[in-house]
Amino acid sequence: MEPFTYTRVSGTRDAVAAGQRGGRYIAGGTTLVDLMRETVERPTALVDITGLPLRDTTVAADGTLRIGALVTMADAAADPRVRTAYPVISQALELSASAQLRNMATLGGNVMQRTRCAYFRDVTAACNKRTPGAGCAALHGVNRAHAILGTSEHCVATHPSDVAVAFAALEAGVRLLGPDGERTVAFRDFLLPPGTTPQREQAIHPGELITAVEIPAHPRPLRSGYLKVRDRQSYEFALTSAAVALHVEGGVVRAAKVAAGGVGTVPWKLTAVEQYLTGKPPSPRLWRDAAARAAGGARPLEHNGFKVELLERTVERQLRIVGGTR
Ligand code: SF4
Repeated sequence: MEPFTYTRVSGTRDAVAAGQRGGRYIAGGTTLVDLMRETVERPTALVDITGLPLRDTTVAADGTLRIGALVTMADAAADPRVRTAYPVISQALELSASAQLRNMATLGGNVMQRTRCAYFRDVTAACNKRTPGAGCAALHGVNRAHAILGTSEHCVATHPSDVAVAFAALEAGVRLLGPDGERTVAFRDFLLPPGTTPQREQAIHPGELITAVEIPAHPRPLRSGYLKVRDRQSYEFALTSAAVALHVEGGVVRAAKVAAGGVGTVPWKLTAVEQYLTGKPPSPRLWRDAAARAAGGARPLEHNGFKVELLERTVERQLRIVGGTR
């Protein structure tokens, strides 16, 4: 670990000022400290934000659910307002990490967490995300767990968060506070695919601080859930996952919100699946035909071609579970 300074702040403006001076925010520390120990991350100044008043969950008059950035994964998953309105969020959180980590890790940190690509975490391996221009060892290395959607020749790493997949499906927004005030960035624009700059992972400016995640109101009734497929049933990242929310009324799918994890360089919104579902009566055939559109545009690597069929089957199964027509 490299030497660094440590500052604790109690006000959001002080935090932003410290961030502007180059400080890295730290809350639960469940990712950053590991990366610092391995010298993958070498911040020279840490800004402890655990004292900031960002631990509230509220529901606005228009129905927007606002979860503070410092709410822990465990608390967000257990919140009755989250569990009742959006089981997909609670399930995604409870299928993540371990109980100990969920008690420490915050929602803001979860969204900002870095990839689990083994080459990224091995400082002896070539990695454009860690060292721009160095190359990508995963392209011709062991890439079974890597992405098939949203990749570039510069990086093929998946985004590791489960709850971010639920947020993408539900078209959440990320609330930011910066030197110039507050703004909300739509989730689909917040996490960035690698393109030619894989080292840039979020649409966030220097000094900006995540203050909350906002989930807009969706038509009711809304049934939702999260399915995660992985090599073992605990403490493992997704090979594929599906976040599904369906508004079915009058015997027809009125609205469908669907996203996939474990397959994209960012949580992957399945717009073609959503469009195919909308306006049609639920049936096993509908789930199958919609899921067949999940992997459009996929570009498998040497070891992860299995993800194409696995993704389609994961989406079909979760549509059946949430849609209730088996
Ligand atoms: Fe680095 Fe991305 Fe290549 Fe992994 S896939 S080695 S994170 S550039």
